[in-house]
This record gives sequence, structure tokens and C-alpha cells, in this order.
Amino acid sequence: MDNPFDLSGKAAIVTGGNGGIGLGMAEGLARAGASLVVVGRNAAKNEAALARLAKLGARAIAVQADVARRDAWQRIVAAALGEFGRIDVLVNNAGISLRKAPQDFSLEEWRDILDTNLTAAFLGAQAVYPEFKRLGAGKIINTGSLCSILGGAFNVPYTASKGGILQLTRGLAVAWAKDNIQVNAVLPGWIETDLSKRARASIPGLDERVLARSPAGRWGRPEDHAGVAVFLASRASEFITGAAIPVDGGYSIQLL
Ligand code: NDP
Repeated sequence: MDNPFDLSGKAAIVTGGNGGIGLGMAEGLARAGASLVVVGRNAAKNEAALARLAKLGARAIAVQADVARRDAWQRIVAAALGEFGRIDVLVNNAGISLRKAPQDFSLEEWRDILDTNLTAAFLGAQAVYPEFKRLGAGKIINTGSLCSILGGAFNVPYTASKGGILQLTRGLAVAWAKDNIQVNAVLPGWIETDLSKRARASIPGLDERVLARSPAGRWGRPEDHAGVAVFLASRASEFITGAAIPVDGGYSIQLL
């Protein structure tokens, strides 16, 4: 039997694929044979990611774009189709966070976080749908968070956006199952990236608390998301849709 995890000949768009968890997933997809479209706002980070993907022998392009803007998605899809002629996988992973008490957030900050973390994923899904229909298949992987299922006192807009990602995943999964499109979420735990660096440096005792509560006894790494990305992007997960898979070393399932 052929390898159900093989992604040769497939093309994947990864938002926020120029660093952190997104690059970890992009490298996993590249190793499995996929071509990549990396999307991020920062051109230098995009170039650095392309260099890493080239080392794996992957075909890859970058699109400099703000995924929260609807017009960006026309460019992203056009670039993917122009380069690879198809889109098989969309990874909605770009995300931002801001830590402060809920009463201190401005409306603009709330909107920025919701637009980037949640609305962009919806726009992305809408943008790739016609191509998935044409191919008769498609995979969407949304990056949620443990904040999709747990409350955080100092990141309420982020928590709202990540709760929304979980329900967006389920809604799209139900709507598009008949089109052979599977939509799933990954819920990263505490992962060493630029996003968590600030929290780790500024919150006293965070490091110790994360280590004490994590059965795996360590912070996660971007490359911990490579395998789950390949699984959810491949034929191996054909009958799995609307699922949310924690990638957290057991953080969310430990009683004490
Ligand atoms: P990083 O800050 O390392 O990565 C964020 C990525 O998103 C970057 O590639 C960034 O690229 C991109 N990005 C942000 N805003 C936009 C935008 N408007 N348009 C396009 N790209 C954008 O953080 P992580 O890797 O940690 O985060 C990735 C995802 O994982 C996020 O959704 C985050 O919420 C989630 N997550 C992270 C956890 C952690 O502990 N680190 C835990 C749970 C979830 P650029 O700057 O070039 O735009």
C-alpha cells in the first residue's frame, strides 16, 4: 500500500509560516513532499523561512501579506495557483496576542486580535474553497490554543479568538464534509516561540509553573507540530474532521 502520509505533488498555504509553530508545521509538510506557500508580514522572516525550506529540497514561495485583509487572500490564492497550479492544504496559523486586564483593552486592540486570529482564518477558508471544490478534496488546519478550551485572565481577546477558532473549525467541518474537505484544529500548549518569549520573560514563576504542570516536563517546540500537520494534511486523516488535537505534552489533561 502506498504511504498515506505522502504529500508529494500537494501544495500547502501556511499563514504565519515564516517562524515559530507555523514554520515547524511548514517544515513537516515539506519533509512529507508538499510544496509551500509561506505567508507573513515580515519580508526578512519570509526570506529566512524560504532558505530553511530550500534546504529540505522543498519548492516554496513566500507572500508578504496581512491575512486579516480580504484583498490579501486574492493575492495569496493567485500566487499559490500561479506557482503550483493547485491548493490542497490551508494552515490558518498566523496569530498575535497582547497581555493586559480585560478592562484595559481598547476596541482597536480587540479588533486587531480578533481580525488576525479568527476572521483571517474564515477569509482564508472562503478563499481556498473554490479550488478545493475543483480538486474534489481539501484540508484545513486551524491553529487554536489551550485558550480555545481554558480561560486566561490576561488575554481575554486572545481567548475569545481561540475559542472562536474551535467553533469555526467545527462549523466548517460540518458544512464541507460533503465536499470531501476535512477541517481540524491543533491546540498548542506552552511552546517556545517569539509569541511566548515575552510572557516567559515577564511573568514571574511562569517557567516553573509550566514545567511543574506539564507531564512531559518541558516546553513545546515548533517542530513538535510537524507530525500532526502532516497527519491532518494527508490522506491518513480522511475520516477525521472537526477534531481539536492538543499538542501540549499532556498539560491540559493532568488533574493536579
Ligand atoms: P510567532 O510570533 O512566532 O508566529 C506568529 C506568526 O504569525 C509569524 O509568522 C507572523 O509573521 C505571523 N503573523 C502574525 N500576524 C500576521 C498577520 N496579520 N498577517 C500575516 N501573518 C501574521 O508565534 P507562534 O508560532 O507561537 O504562534 C503561531 C500560532 O500558534 C498563533 O496562532 C498562536 O496564537 C498559536 N499558539 C502559540 C502558542 C505558544 O505557546 N507559542 C500556544 C498556543 C497557540 P509576521 O510577523 O511576518 O507577520
